[in-house]
Amino acid sequence: MTKIEPFAERIYVTRPVFPKIEEVTEKLQDIWNSKWLTNNGPQHSMLERELTDFLRVPYLSLFNNGTIALIVACQSLRLSGEVITTPFTFAATPHVLSWNNITPIFCDIDAETMNIDANKIESMITPHTTAILAVHVFGIPCDVEKIQEIADRYGLRVIYDAAHAFGVEIGGKGIGNFGDISMFSFHATKLYHTVEGGALVHGDKNLKQRIDLLKNFGIKNEEEVVMPGINGKLDEIRAAIGRIMLNYVEDERQKRIFLHKIYNEELSDVEGIKIMPTCAGVKLNYQYYVIRIDEKTFGRSRDFVYDEFRKFNVFARKYFHPLCSDFTCYRQLNSSNPANLPVANEIGQQVLSMPMYGGLKEDDVRKICAILKSFRR
Ligand SMILES: *Cc1c(COP(=O)(O)O)cnc(C)c1O
Repeated sequence: MTKIEPFAERIYVTRPVFPKIEEVTEKLQDIWNSKWLTNNGPQHSMLERELTDFLRVPYLSLFNNGTIALIVACQSLRLSGEVITTPFTFAATPHVLSWNNITPIFCDIDAETMNIDANKIESMITPHTTAILAVHVFGIPCDVEKIQEIADRYGLRVIYDAAHAFGVEIGGKGIGNFGDISMFSFHATKLYHTVEGGALVHGDKNLKQRIDLLKNFGIKNEEEVVMPGINGKLDEIRAAIGRIMLNYVEDERQKRIFLHKIYNEELSDVEGIKIMPTCAGVKLNYQYYVIRIDEKTFGRSRDFVYDEFRKFNVFARKYFHPLCSDFTCYRQLNSSNPANLPVANEIGQQVLSMPMYGGLKEDDVRKICAILKSFRR
């Protein structure tokens, strides 16, 4: 076989979607005219409405980022004690529990979806459990029905970290309609973004009032501060960029669907490579393309592939490795014991997030796959 040359320039795992600068300057002019930069201004109000429609949810509150939004979600439901969550997620998920003085209890994950294993949640419940914080990892929906059924039976709240699941729908229903509250992140690296930003969505008007107070220092009016809130506000400039980006999200999604197909075409028959699961009846967002490398059948470990890829200027990422249960701040927890998390520990050694963004070319994807296949032994 002919030797494959490295890419001339680095290929990163993702690249943010940039709007046309003229569209931004036009909106900036509107903001300058309005003389309003933050605190629930016109851009903020319009974006809240537009996103409520786009995500097909009853209520939505914007935030300055997804992490603060999730911290406020726990506050708004007055969670305490222990919350059952997944170790296979971004650091923010368990950290928001710590910031609420809540102990994260790590539950193992499902070998197919890589989401919290709903069949193992019940055995993790104690008298201190107040909620389940599940993550729709890589935009693949959790077993929302089973999770709700357990929560109802034990009187627990359900929060979804839907940071990866913007625009995902289950049977035509926006994914933000499940559980008590869902959080979306609008960080620059997500499919849809406001540079930095996020939102909480839910179906309860009173909860919206409480969340909106909590994100603005608990200030009810000039005379009354009714709870210890925080500053979770999204400013007018980011809200305006978010309004522009809403016009880009479907085009970006279509480009990723195309690249997803190319990856599948190239990799579905490679022994030792497991491609992403498909989900019947689900509209996915195709934000990520994640493979699993089985060292026994592929002949090379994930870490080998990761290191070798870099020599070809391919910067894939090990999402999610290390597991949150392996962080120094959580590994002393009983639930962090690898014996409690066999599937998460196995998958954490196998996953590799492949380059995925609309600007990537079909030929780039084919070459990345050819490089990967050349590693096989
Ligand atoms: C991006 C992300 C977050 C954090 O969102 P920010 O907006 O960056 O604060 C939380 N959870 C998951 C799973 C994420 O991917």
